[in-house]
Amino acid sequence: MAKRVLFAASEVYPFAKTGGLADVAHSLPKALSSRYDVHVILPLYRSIDRNKYDITLLHEPFNIEMGGEEYTIEIYGCLFEGVECRFVYAPLLCERDYLYGPPECGYEDNALRFGLFSHIIAALLRSEHYDILHLNDWQCALAALLIREDPMIPTKTLYTIHNLAYQGVFEADVLEQIGVDSRYFTLDAVEFYGKVNFMKAGIAYADFITTVSPTYAKEIMTHEFGCGLEGFLSFHSRKLQGILNGIDPEHFSPMSDTALVSTYKNVKGKKSSKSDILKQFALKGATKPLFVFIGRFTGQKGVDLLIETLPKMAALECNIAILGDGEEEYSTALNAIAQSHKNVSLHVGYDEALSHRMYAASDFLLMPSLFEPCGLNQMIAFAYGSLPVVHRVGGLADTVKKFENYKEGSSVGYGIVFNTPASRALLSAVQKACELYIDKKRFEEIANHNMECDFSWSESAKVYSRLYESISK
Ligand code: ADP
Repeated sequence: MAKRVLFAASEVYPFAKTGGLADVAHSLPKALSSRYDVHVILPLYRSIDRNKYDITLLHEPFNIEMGGEEYTIEIYGCLFEGVECRFVYAPLLCERDYLYGPPECGYEDNALRFGLFSHIIAALLRSEHYDILHLNDWQCALAALLIREDPMIPTKTLYTIHNLAYQGVFEADVLEQIGVDSRYFTLDAVEFYGKVNFMKAGIAYADFITTVSPTYAKEIMTHEFGCGLEGFLSFHSRKLQGILNGIDPEHFSPMSDTALVSTYKNVKGKKSSKSDILKQFALKGATKPLFVFIGRFTGQKGVDLLIETLPKMAALECNIAILGDGEEEYSTALNAIAQSHKNVSLHVGYDEALSHRMYAASDFLLMPSLFEPCGLNQMIAFAYGSLPVVHRVGGLADTVKKFENYKEGSSVGYGIVFNTPASRALLSAVQKACELYIDKKRFEEIANHNMECDFSWSESAKVYSRLYESISK
């Protein structure tokens, strides 16, 4: 009989998504479902449409005690694309406008909200047998500690770090409210500069830890990228491995994507998508290269660099369309640039369908990230025949090779790669992209090659599966 895996994440596409974690929590369980009996578990946020996905109540409500308070919990379920999904409902966790809080800051009681999520996961493991619990990011990391603490739960845990920049750090006084004994408030457990750090619980107590690319796995053990946890991670490095994320080829396929004005199988077929986006963004010149940026407006994504460089990029023969949301100062600055340059256009917001149309329309995707654990955008760009322009860091270094080294018949994706996160380097990369675009034949050959490459989970799912086997032997 297949082993049972409970895959926990605070966001899962298509139910709730703010970024790449949701894509991974949708596509990795799906890729593993032929080998394992995988159940995905996430909060049933208010924004999730229960009718649309046929989400129904599975159990009678039950109570959970956390830090001396009683919480009533409901468990819901549905089958989505062959994967069983479990939803936990508690008003404290789910009745919010945003998943984690407005862009500027998280909700004040996030420690309680996601502490409760972890307690619910542990409670489920007491009543139902799972061989493996796969935890993701800080929001459910505390479950690793709760499980280790309970000798009645035999489940083995794997903890995946998707982004070390978000660790779930809270004032020390939440410890009691989240029902964690003060003996865990030590350097080798959850204490972090006098505060409580949820991610540390995952790192310390999981049987194994992964992060989302081999390069990021090395980077996070350095002062530059470790966000204060480099020493702790180095200490646990024997149980740490970097495994590259993949994308779901069914969801990101220009040949079948229903969001597109017309589907296509090679770059020649992108024309109508380009005219569609140029029109929507009020840009002119279908023969000019179209650069797009799609992502969260935050320091990590290199938005400062983009803002600094955009006016100079706009002086080149190209169009630039930007889609994103996040920190308001970034939206304001980008909007000011768009207002004063007719070949720069901005759409503020989160729009899945528009993002797909932009991947399809674009010739180049800008990714000047300062750090990038894995990055999915560049792989989506490959699939849609758009060449990524990337800073060589984290997963971008692992997935995007320099187009200058393009080799016919190879299995890697090519783009424009720059080495330093500086405006001059980004500008010069964009200039190179424009020059490559003039050499139509070469540009199309490389873009078509990228479209043929495999960025699915096929290889990485095998690695996860070996890990599952080794921890649950
Ligand atoms: P991160 O998780 O750090 O935000 P990733 O590259 O791992 O970055 O994943 C980002 C995912 O979110 C991709 O699927 C990307 O297309 C999508 N995305 C980001 N911003 C937006 C937006 N404003 N509208 C639609 N999709 C977006």
